[in-house]
Amino acid sequence: MPQLKTKALVMRTVDWSDTSKIVSLFTREKGRVDVIAKGARRKNNPYQGVTETLNEIDAVIYLSEKRDLQTLGSVSLESSWREIRTDLKKTSIAMAILEIMQHFFHEGQGDQIFYDFLVTMMEQLGEINCEYIILWYFMLKTASRLGFKPEMDKCNGCGKAELSGNIEFDLASGVVYESGCSPGKISSEHLTREQLQFLSRLQKVPHRKLKLLSDISIPDYPYTKLLQNYLNYHTDSTLKLKSLRFLAG
Ligand SMILES: [Zn+2]
Repeated sequence: MPQLKTKALVMRTVDWSDTSKIVSLFTREKGRVDVIAKGARRKNNPYQGVTETLNEIDAVIYLSEKRDLQTLGSVSLESSWREIRTDLKKTSIAMAILEIMQHFFHEGQGDQIFYDFLVTMMEQLGEINCEYIILWYFMLKTASRLGFKPEMDKCNGCGKAELSGNIEFDLASGVVYESGCSPGKISSEHLTREQLQFLSRLQKVPHRKLKLLSDISIPDYPYTKLLQNYLNYHTDSTLKLKSLRFLAG
């Protein structure tokens, strides 16, 4: 049986039988792969602890094209993200990111660049003060990766780079308009110039440098909701971000 040796992030686990668990992995080599971890619910089993949600693991997976569920072989722990797990807010944000992964990235081709990006996000989440910056950034980059990157640098009506007045962000096209330049009847969300500038700046920060935004002043706005609506609009889907339910603000 072919073997796959890969790094992977544990996205979710479900109890399968008295002794086994199903583990949803986002692997570096093959994207999403669901595996059965036999014996994972037994005491002192080597899978225990290692196959917890959020962990990054090194895994050997036995692949069979005939099955939907693959079989987990040996595993070792790469990182359990201590900085994240010891902080409730960081944990919730990390879980929200995994929820987005599960929602929008399905089985199929591996995506090593996106995998490495995801791991960098977890590293930065462990270190940054404003955790939501990581979530918003991840949502913006997910939109880009799925092919509908928002264009927030100029008014789509007149082409001006320094937008003024009230600004409309059109969910359908991912572009922005000054109020006077809007074609009207668009599925828009309203932003101030400062809120738009923040999003536009965030979108351009290199992903390894997000920590530099730790002290940035963030104009108050429900950015999570805006980006959630945007992702849902373009994928005809209902991402709920249940992981954030217990967080205020
Ligand atoms: Zn304009």
